[in-house]
Amino acid sequence: MKYRGNAYRLLESYDVKVGDRIVVKTRDNEYRGILMPRYELADDLHLVIKLRNGYNVGISVDEILSILLEERAREKDREEVVIGGREKKEKEEERDGSVSVEHNATRLAMISTGGTIASRIDYRTGGVRAALTAEELYSIVPELSSIAAIDAEVLMQEYSENLTPMHWSIIAERVGEKIYEGYDGIVIAHGTDTMHYTSSALSFALQNLPVPVVLVGAQRSSDRPSSDAAANLIGASLFAANADASGVFIVMHNGKSDDRIAVHIGTRVRKNHTSSRDAFKSIDTEPIALVDVDSSRIDMMLELNVRRRRDKARRPIVRTRFNEHVALIKFYPGLDPSMIEHLISKGYRGLVLEGTGLGHVSKGCFNAIRDAIDSNMLVCMTSQCIWGRLRMTVYETGRDLLSMGVVPLDMLPETALVKVMWVLANSSSMDEAKSMLLSNMAMEFK
Ligand code: GLU
Repeated sequence: MKYRGNAYRLLESYDVKVGDRIVVKTRDNEYRGILMPRYELADDLHLVIKLRNGYNVGISVDEILSILLEERAREKDREEVVIGGREKKEKEEERDGSVSVEHNATRLAMISTGGTIASRIDYRTGGVRAALTAEELYSIVPELSSIAAIDAEVLMQEYSENLTPMHWSIIAERVGEKIYEGYDGIVIAHGTDTMHYTSSALSFALQNLPVPVVLVGAQRSSDRPSSDAAANLIGASLFAANADASGVFIVMHNGKSDDRIAVHIGTRVRKNHTSSRDAFKSIDTEPIALVDVDSSRIDMMLELNVRRRRDKARRPIVRTRFNEHVALIKFYPGLDPSMIEHLISKGYRGLVLEGTGLGHVSKGCFNAIRDAIDSNMLVCMTSQCIWGRLRMTVYETGRDLLSMGVVPLDMLPETALVKVMWVLANSSSMDEAKSMLLSNMAMEFK
C-alpha cells in the first residue's frame, strides 16, 4: 500500500505521508484532501487524494507543481485510512482479548457482476480487471468499513450489455442464497447500461424480501479522476445496511453537483443519459429515498407499507427462471408487420409493443397482431412516451387492440419485457399468465 518510484520520491521530498491532509497544486488546478494509499497494482506516476466530497482523484506526478502539508494525520487516523476501520477495530479487540465483532456487526454481502464500478486498470497489462475483493474495496473506499462488515465476491465480470436472462437467473440465485445466509443487505455492483433490466428481473425473481437488495454502478471507474464509484458505493451500502426498507433498488447519484445519492424502486427506473452521473431517474414517481454520503443521513421520500419494510424474519420467495422467447418491439411509422409474423414462425411466446402515445400501433399491424394472439402469443402494449399513463380506452385504435386481446401494461417497456419473460416461465396457463401480468407484484405499475 506504500507509494513507490517517482510518486514516493515526490512525497518524501515534501515529507507527507498517507493520511495527511494536503493541498496539491498543478498548473490548472488545486486539490485539497487526504492522501490515500496507492492501489495494490497502481503505477508510480499518480497520487490519489480523497476530496471532501468523497471522491478520489488521481493526480499525475508530472503535473504537480507543489504540495503543501495542511494537517499531519494522527497515527490513529493514519491507520484508519490505510487499513480501514473494521480491521482496526478487530485488531484492537484482539489486543484486549475480546471476541471478534463479526457476529454483532451489520453484515452486507457485496456481489460484483462487472461494469465500470467493478473494474479498474491493471497498470501491468493495461487491461481492465474486477476489483471487488474485500481488501481492494477497503483500499479504494475505506469508509465502507465503518458502515458494515462486508463480504465481497466476484460472481461474474461482464459489461452489462453482455448480460442475458440466464445471467439474471444466476444473480438472483446467488442473492437468494445470501439472503438465506442471513445478511442484513445485499449490494450488487453492476454495469449501468442494462442495470434497470436486471433490477426488474430481480424484483420479480425475488419477492417478499426481508432486507434491501441494492444495485449500484458508476459512470467512471474507481481509479479515475472524479470517479463516482466511491460515493455511489457508500450510498448503496448505507441504504442496504440501515434503511427500514426491503425489495430491489437502484442506487446512483441524484444530481450533477450534489453529494446526495438517490434510491430508486427497481421496476420504476431507467438510464436516461449516456454519461452524466445522474443518468438514472425514477419515472412517474419520486426516488424512494435520498442518502447524504457526508452525514450518512437517509431521507425516505415515499412511505412504504409494512410489507416493504425491513423484517429479517420474512421468508423470501425465490423464482429465478425467465422465458427468453419474448421480444420488445418499438413501433415506428412504417413498421413492417412481417416482423411480428417472423416472431410467430420462430416460436416466440410473448411480444411487448412500445406503442405511440397512449398505447397505439398502426392499423397495418392489426392482422399480424391477431395472428400472434391466435397462435397463443401473449401480446402486450406499453408506451414509448416514457412519462405518463397508458390509456388504451381513449381512442378507437386502443379500443380495437384491447378487443383483440392485447394486454395493457402501464409500466416501463423494459420492465414489461422482463415481467412477461418471468411470468411465462412461472405460470401454467394463459389465464394465469394474464392475471399475473395485471397484478402489481413489485411496485411496477405506474
Ligand atoms: N457498458 C458497460 C456496462 O454497462 C460499462 C458502462 C458502465 O458500467 O456504466 O457494463
